[in-house]
This record gives sequence, structure tokens and C-alpha cells, in this order.
Amino acid sequence: MQAASVVSAKDLCLTYHTNDGPVHALSNVDLDVRKGDFVSFIGPSGCGKTTFLRVIADLERKTSGEITVNGMTPEEARKARAYGYVFQAPALYPWRTIDKNIALPLEIMGYAADDQKRRIAEALDLVNLSGFEKKFPWQLSGGMQQRASIARALAFDADLLLMDEPFGALDEIVRDHLNEELLKLWARTNKTICFVTHSIPEAVYLSTKIIVMSPRPGRVTDIIDSTLPAERPLGIRETPEFLAIAHRVREGLRAGHSYEE
Ligand code: ADP
Ligand code: MG
Repeated sequence: MQAASVVSAKDLCLTYHTNDGPVHALSNVDLDVRKGDFVSFIGPSGCGKTTFLRVIADLERKTSGEITVNGMTPEEARKARAYGYVFQAPALYPWRTIDKNIALPLEIMGYAADDQKRRIAEALDLVNLSGFEKKFPWQLSGGMQQRASIARALAFDADLLLMDEPFGALDEIVRDHLNEELLKLWARTNKTICFVTHSIPEAVYLSTKIIVMSPRPGRVTDIIDSTLPAERPLGIRETPEFLAIAHRVREGLRAGHSYEE
């Protein structure tokens, strides 16, 4: 039996209207994210990756087509707290300690104090930051800050995590480490993850499904179901199977790329 549909898009279009005319950020996007999937969206800057996550999160409205999140409209899903969102930059408030940063959305949504405390402790444990709750963001490394912002997104315990280039600003060694940790977290929590990246190795290493996108208009050019096993030591990136998937992603990116500019 197929797992339940978490995100389903059919013929989804989104056009931004700007002073320079319309920008077709998403054009006829069809795709299906199933419960427990780790889906990466890869493509050059401007191909609509962030826009797609923002449509799922109800931060942008579609122009036409269909989109459901857990079988609901994005607005209903947002009200049901269906997802946690991790932004490209950690976006932590410097004047709040780590625990208070994670608490902020919980405070806004009116969770009781003891419930907040429990959720913060669990989320910090999941990202291996227990013991750092009283630190300020500027006392942590970039990688630790990004882990704190992942903890903030986990604190609602939503089944769906939306992550927009969360490790894009980090050096490669830290990124490798966080990739490994994220896979473990995903395996342990059974979450569905939609992950935006520029990096081919990152997409191939993490994903059960890779969505290759191209710009102007933003569309899906290839969908690759990974054949890699669930257990993935970093060394898997040297295997022929891994390299074959990476090759297909690269071909998809090349096919969708226009060299006009
Ligand atoms: P990506 O995340 O893949 O880099 P985006 O989704 O941010 O791409 O953007 C897709 C396209 O839509 C780009 O051409 C971008 O300039 C344009 N765009 C994004 N947001 C807006 C906006 N709020 N208003 C107008 N154009 C936008
Ligand atoms: Mg983006």
C-alpha cells in the first residue's frame, strides 16, 4: 500500500506580478510527496524552489492548479500546524537565549509553560544541543545556530518539515556532519521532509526522491526515486550507485538550463 499523500500538486502555477511584467515562478508543477519521504528540490537560483515551499506553507497563494497539504488546503494545514519551517539563515533573535528562541512560536500559539519546557527539551535533544539552552545565539557556531533553528521548527512536533537551503551558508565539513545528523533525525522521527538545496551531493545523499527544477518558467524537469538504501554512511558518496544518481541529477539540471544570460 502506498503511504498517505502529504503534499500533492497538480498543474500548479504561480505568477508574480511585478513592475517589469509577470514572473512565472512555478509553471504546471505536478508532484506527490508521501508520508515519510525525504524530498529534495534542486535547481539553479530563481527556479521557484522557495516559492514552492512558501505555497505549501500558505505564505504565497497559487495562481492556478491544485495543491493539498495533508489532504487540506495550505491555509487549513497552516491553521492545523501541519509543518515546521526552517529558513535559509538561522533567524534567531540575538537577545533571546536558545531555549527562549525555541519558545517564541510556542508562546505566540499559547502553549502552557510546562508543555513549552517539555517540547524545548525534546527538540534540543533531537538536534544534540541539550545543555546549550541558556546560551545566546552569538555564543554558538554557525552549524549549532542552524541546529537551534531546526529545533525551533521541530518544537511543534509537526509531521512535515520544510527546509529552505538550511546548510547553504555552512562550510562543507560542518554540512557533511549536519547531513548525517539530519538523516538520523529523519529516521528516528518518521517525519516527511521537503528540502531545498543547490548541492547535488547533498540532494543525493539525503533524499528518497529528488525533484530537479529549471527556471523561466520554474518547472519540474525530472523526478528521481533514489535506489540508495536507508542506511547511508558518508562513504556511500563514493559508490557507483550514488554517482549514477548524481549524474542523472546533473543531466537534468543541464537540460533545464538556458545559457542565454
Ligand atoms: P529559488 O528559491 O529557486 O531561487 P524563488 O522561488 O525565490 O526561486 O523565485 C522564483 C522566481 O520568482 C525568481 O525569478 C524570483 O525573482 C521571483 N520572485 C520570487 N519572489 C518574488 C516576489 N515576491 N515578487 C516578485 N518576484 C518574485
Ligand atoms: Mg530560494
